[in-house]
Amino acid sequence: MANWLEAKVQDIHWWNDKLFSLVIKADIAPFKAGQYTKLAMEIDGKRVARAYSFVNSPQSSKLEFYLIKVDGGTLCGALAKLQKGDTVSIAEQATGFFTLDEVPSAQQMWMLSTGTAIGPFLSMLQEQEVWQKYQDIVLVHCVRTQSDLSYQPLIHLLMQQHPQLKYVPIVTREDNVTPLQQRIPELIHSGTLFSHVQLEATVDNAQFMICGNPDMVKETSQCLSDLGYSRNRRRSPGQITVEQYW
Ligand SMILES: Cc1cc2nc3c(=O)[nH]c(=O)nc-3n(C[C@H](O)[C@H](O)[C@H](O)COP(=O)(O)OP(=O)(O)OC[C@H]3O[C@@H](n4cnc5c(N)ncnc54)[C@H](O)[C@@H]3O)c2cc1C
Repeated sequence: MANWLEAKVQDIHWWNDKLFSLVIKADIAPFKAGQYTKLAMEIDGKRVARAYSFVNSPQSSKLEFYLIKVDGGTLCGALAKLQKGDTVSIAEQATGFFTLDEVPSAQQMWMLSTGTAIGPFLSMLQEQEVWQKYQDIVLVHCVRTQSDLSYQPLIHLLMQQHPQLKYVPIVTREDNVTPLQQRIPELIHSGTLFSHVQLEATVDNAQFMICGNPDMVKETSQCLSDLGYSRNRRRSPGQITVEQYW
């Protein structure tokens, strides 16, 4: 059972009419970059709780979450109505194993995300560990429209600070917005993703972390398996580590 704390809303930033970042303050237990917690609200007399990944680094005093308001979504609809100064419940303890200490060191780190699932990667990229553990880091963010490419200021700051970071935005439902326009599994299957950033990935030099839409996670994992990569498990380390959002 979660131990619930009351968090105060510090800010809500809307990126477009569906995507928003929720910034709250609460005295939660320490967490690791890549983990998620539960947010909850009372809806029709019942507590409704869902998982949300941290965007902020574990050192930050403010807790940030990147959300989509899905049509008919029970909790996200309520969270989207929050205003500065309102309260929301948060689980005291974070959870999850989508963290860098679960992933072997390698020359290349490929962070593959769709939609709001860029969040846990932004948390990892704001920590020192990732820059020491991997020489080349590729942040891939696949979205439908240009306006879904959130967090540009933070991503550009990270690229300035860390020349080893390559950012690959992919817009699939508008023409010619980004150089790459196909879904992640197709880009891996054709080899285009690798040639685009001029990196040659092999089972010996690359790690892949995949987060987001379950279809993308499944299809991307399958494409990588076809190329000889395997799931990373504690007892048998491989190169593929995944987190699905639903
Ligand atoms: C480990 C984990 C971490 C998560 N982190 C985040 C996060 O950082 N940000 C976030 O917005 N959501 C995240 N989610 C999803 C989140 O927990 C909820 O499922 C989502 O907010 C919808 O809840 P709801 O009650 O509003 O909708 P529900 O009534 O429960 O409807 C759920 C449906 O909404 C769709 N959906 C759910 N999440 C998403 C999404 N992120 N993008 C597109 N469609 C979605 C799916 O079709 C799903 O079947 C995470 C889920 C998991 C398991």
